[in-house]
Amino acid sequence: MTLLRKRTRAIQVGSIRIGGDAPISIQSMTNTDTRNVQATCEQIQKLQEAGCEIIRVAVPDMEAAVAIRAIRKQIRLPLVADIHFDHRLALEAMRNGVDKLRINPGNIGDMEHIRPVVEMAKQRGIPIRIGVNSGSLEKDLVAKYGGVTAEGLVESTLRHVRILESLDFKDICIAIKSSNIPTSLDAHIQLSDQVDYPLHIGITEAGTVWAGSIKSAAGIGAILSHGIGDTIRVSLTGDPVQEVLCAKEILKTFRLRQFGVELISCPTCGRTRIDLIPMANEIERRCAKIDKPLRVAVMGCVVNGPGEAKDADIGIAGGDGRGVIFKHGQIVRTVEEAQLVDALMEEIERL
Ligand code: SF4
Repeated sequence: MTLLRKRTRAIQVGSIRIGGDAPISIQSMTNTDTRNVQATCEQIQKLQEAGCEIIRVAVPDMEAAVAIRAIRKQIRLPLVADIHFDHRLALEAMRNGVDKLRINPGNIGDMEHIRPVVEMAKQRGIPIRIGVNSGSLEKDLVAKYGGVTAEGLVESTLRHVRILESLDFKDICIAIKSSNIPTSLDAHIQLSDQVDYPLHIGITEAGTVWAGSIKSAAGIGAILSHGIGDTIRVSLTGDPVQEVLCAKEILKTFRLRQFGVELISCPTCGRTRIDLIPMANEIERRCAKIDKPLRVAVMGCVVNGPGEAKDADIGIAGGDGRGVIFKHGQIVRTVEEAQLVDALMEEIERL
């Protein structure tokens, strides 16, 4: 079964299209000081190598907004400036070549300040992402709904959307985030029913790399399973490269994107007669360098392995001190345990 995606309006962020029939793109955010151009560009380079497709940087002050110009010259990824409140930072970031703004128009202040930002974005074809977060929901909406609720998050989002629409601006992307997964899912479903702008999805403040990856997979997965989501950002307390790797796994798991090898491996059980766990880790490490879209299975026994992994293009199944290599469920070769990983990698190279 293939997940059906809700068709949204498309926006263009530098070379990447978000929404419409574009593939779901992967974003991350640097955690360097944006004013440190070298450190920021080095991190962006690592993120790009990991598979990041759009990068966001925080722009907390004018020095950071000015640094955008030098960063833009040194990187190839579409660049997003993350700005709160100060319209002058948004104007400076746009003058310096940013490809998208993340700013909430309702937080800029009066229309006198909002209008020039929207006009410049319009002239330069720069989309604006609205980002509503459960941690900063307006007090009147918290009071109205008796706490932070999906309804409150949606109403807050629509306030910002209406401001942009009142200025005839529709080059919009929206993020509506909560660290509470049921609230987040509910908010996405409600919002998706009311707008056709592309949605940037993620679970905010998800946690550390291990727990946050699981929480993100559960939350983003739940949203994706409703056909919602045009671009994703996993938020982890850790190296942002891990966010990109996690995002790729989520999209791969849903078969929404293909990035190299998808590993299928059994949990091992009382039938396992080879040292499968280190083998699976070694195969995962070696397959990480392969670009071919393949499903590789690492199974513990010959009796059930090939059958359980019949969806795989190629794989191994362990026997007693030896194992077999199978392709599409059919055994093609028997190999001693010590040579099994090398033999599998040779066969993968030949595919
Ligand atoms: Fe057990 Fe074989 Fe299934 Fe692995 S593939 S869990 S060893 S039955």
